[in-house]
Amino acid sequence: MTAVRPEVAAAAYPNAGADTAPRTIVIIGAGQAGGWAAQTLRSEGFAGRLVLIGDEMHPPHERPPLSKAVLSGAALPETARLMKSEAFEALGLEWRAGAQVRRIDRTVKEVLLTDGEALAYDKLILCTGGRARRLALPGADQVPLHTLRTIEDALALAPLLGPGRSVVVVGGGWIGLEVAATARQQGAEVVVVETQSRLCERTVPAEISEHLLALHRAQGTRVLLGAGVLGFAQAADGRPEVLLADGVALRCDAIVIGIGLVPNDELAREAGLECEGGVVVDAQCRTSDPDILAAGDVAVAPNPWAGRRLRLESWQNAQEQGIAAARSALGHMVDYQPLPWFWSDQYGMNLQIYGIPTAAHRVVRRGDAADGSFVLFYLAGDVVQAAIGPNAARDLRFARRLIEQRKPVDAERLADMGTPMSKI
Ligand code: ADP
Repeated sequence: MTAVRPEVAAAAYPNAGADTAPRTIVIIGAGQAGGWAAQTLRSEGFAGRLVLIGDEMHPPHERPPLSKAVLSGAALPETARLMKSEAFEALGLEWRAGAQVRRIDRTVKEVLLTDGEALAYDKLILCTGGRARRLALPGADQVPLHTLRTIEDALALAPLLGPGRSVVVVGGGWIGLEVAATARQQGAEVVVVETQSRLCERTVPAEISEHLLALHRAQGTRVLLGAGVLGFAQAADGRPEVLLADGVALRCDAIVIGIGLVPNDELAREAGLECEGGVVVDAQCRTSDPDILAAGDVAVAPNPWAGRRLRLESWQNAQEQGIAAARSALGHMVDYQPLPWFWSDQYGMNLQIYGIPTAAHRVVRRGDAADGSFVLFYLAGDVVQAAIGPNAARDLRFARRLIEQRKPVDAERLADMGTPMSKI
């Protein structure tokens, strides 16, 4: 824990502290959103008491490297930290590492920890994120089932990957595919088991699912689509098995479950805050209690690009909404309505998505899948609403501008590789 020294904080932030300003801000959740909220509060001049509570033992860090460089051993977990140690120390906050909140008492504006401590707040920011969804099937308690969400998860799985090892990944979504790619690159045999008829069905159009399927199969991964998991068992040789609905038993060295995220919204629900698949917030990141804000994977916010409320599980949202919530808590005018941006790295392929492609959009293609780089644009009328593509970061940056400007475009020019995106 790092105690705040008020005289230091006051000297560093002389303009802070109008009478109505919050004196104590508590952040629950020390992940990426919580970390950004904390540093933003200080950079915006908040000099009061700042408490950051996290049930993990690590200072705020980013999760994308955990399924890639950290899992492969190419990078140490420390490299994923949001801030250097000195910068974190300099925030002068009380970091409660490994601490758990039992309850939020809104009537007296207190957060109660499981160790009995009560922390009073003027503003509370919930950045509690989510946890890996479990598969409660027969045999689930008889074999080790790995997930990939935390540093500990990555460190537990890493030694089980490598030549001569075999891994079954249940779930062909982002986490599943990134883990599958890393495992394969480490030399393991990999089988991906997906219930849907295509990969990443929740988030990408069919053509991108096809592209991902071809990529993984070309790397020697077995991908089973439309495959149901009935349960798990321990084989006679002690190794774990995944039992499929068609009677096949997949014996392996490690089973990884990558079937999505469950938002950690229990504290909010028990406190009576409006929740709907996460904690509902407005564009100012305020929950149904104006003194409690939420940001990151746990927050469900109205999104004009989708025309409905969305819970965004992305690196971008964790950072930007964390910043927005902190500014909002300090009384700044905030209007957080991000164009969703998501990316994934698999086998050196970088896939990016801007906006929310839907079946109602008209699709315009630029480039050829055979080249490994192309962009699919999703239009409503002549206006680009979303864009997605592998290895096309530069074109997608222009696509982002087109989407944000909402200007009509000429679909033929969009599709013409001879017309630079900068000219469209
Ligand atoms: P994550 O970010 O954890 O990868 P996604 O939603 O992107 O989450 O992907 C989860 C994937 O897991 C989806 O493709 C979903 O269809 C798949 N899935 C969910 N339940 C099962 C299951 N019981 N067996 C196999 N796949 C599953």
